[in-house]
Amino acid sequence: MLRKIEHIGIAVKSLDNSNALFSKLFGKDHYKIENVESEGVSTSFFILGETKIELVAATNETSAIAKFIEKKGEGIHHIAYDVENIYAEIERLKAEGFELINPEPKRGADNKWICFLHPKSTNGVLIELCQEIIEP
Ligand code: ZN
Repeated sequence: MLRKIEHIGIAVKSLDNSNALFSKLFGKDHYKIENVESEGVSTSFFILGETKIELVAATNETSAIAKFIEKKGEGIHHIAYDVENIYAEIERLKAEGFELINPEPKRGADNKWICFLHPKSTNGVLIELCQEIIEP
């Protein structure tokens, strides 16, 4: 079961420019900036009540974000849902016929195990599953 929207990911060209823009819009600053080298992205996070907004910028030309912006321009990139057990959800969604981009969870930004569903199996919406990483 997907429990709630954990965050909405927005693809941006410049993290600096967009941090300034969204700070003005939200009336508050981001609470963290994090590079995810394996994905070739730099991210920043804002929290509004229970909802987080993630700005994602490419750090190299081969990053999926660079390709996304080239094709579609800046804008909403993905919706991330909080799950209790990412392995169980991956199995459940596979059995339901959804296609996964990465069938094994990987470490994402903001201390999460993440997994993406292919938008061609979800009406064009890129879906991210995320589970909080609890270090022993
Ligand atoms: Zn995300």
